[in-house]
Amino acid sequence: MSSPGKLIIFSAPSGSGKTTIVRHLLEVFHDKLAFSISACTRAPRPHETDGKDYYFLSPAEFRQKIENGEFAEWEEVYADNFYGTLRSEIERLWQSGRDVVFDVDVKGGLKLKEAFGDLALSVFVKVSEEEEIYRRLNARGTETEASMERRMAKVRYELTFQDQFDVILVNDDLDTALLNAERLVSDFLNISI
Ligand code: ADP
Ligand code: 5GP
Repeated sequence: MSSPGKLIIFSAPSGSGKTTIVRHLLEVFHDKLAFSISACTRAPRPHETDGKDYYFLSPAEFRQKIENGEFAEWEEVYADNFYGTLRSEIERLWQSGRDVVFDVDVKGGLKLKEAFGDLALSVFVKVSEEEEIYRRLNARGTETEASMERRMAKVRYELTFQDQFDVILVNDDLDTALLNAERLVSDFLNISI
């Protein structure tokens, strides 16, 4: 890959607040950071747009890209639901002169960190109480009862990986978490806010 910039990876169990934190950082650092749009095989949710929230692919298209070696990392995040980071996406954003922010699952985050080493900062977003994650996912209203159970099982599994990240960012009080996230980014990119 040419002209490498940096990578800031946010991983966390679903419902921990990654999306909220990443959106905030993209607003605050809009001229410095760009969001890595992942490819995935799940169906779009209402209000999600292809090429903006995800590149929505069929399972066959996704498999073809795996075979072509087009992914920097990919995971079967939920049974039969594949998600992955395209190398071309990282390249596209670096070419635009910005550093890249990722919202990926825990294993994907660790793979990106391993691949990019010191160019990458890996951040694990953590909610201190598991019950609180359940409440937030319920309130978000995007899950059925079955998908909620799957997500909570994965939450417990993913928490076991937290110590392998560069930094753990606690998201109990949102305002505090957002400020701490801003600090992490400005320190890593050597910019003042
Ligand atoms: P993720 O991307 O990790 O699945 P989201 O950012 O979608 O998580 O957050 C899950 C839900 O919790 C959203 O409805 C969001 O508004 C809410 N949320 C995020 N952070 C907090 C917080 N610190 N306190 C209360 N609710 C929060
Ligand atoms: P959702 O279906 O809620 O949009 O995302 C489900 C999970 O997939 C989230 O934990 C999200 O971080 C993860 N995810 C999104 N894109 C990628 C990706 O490119 N690679 C990996 N490994 N996980 C991803």
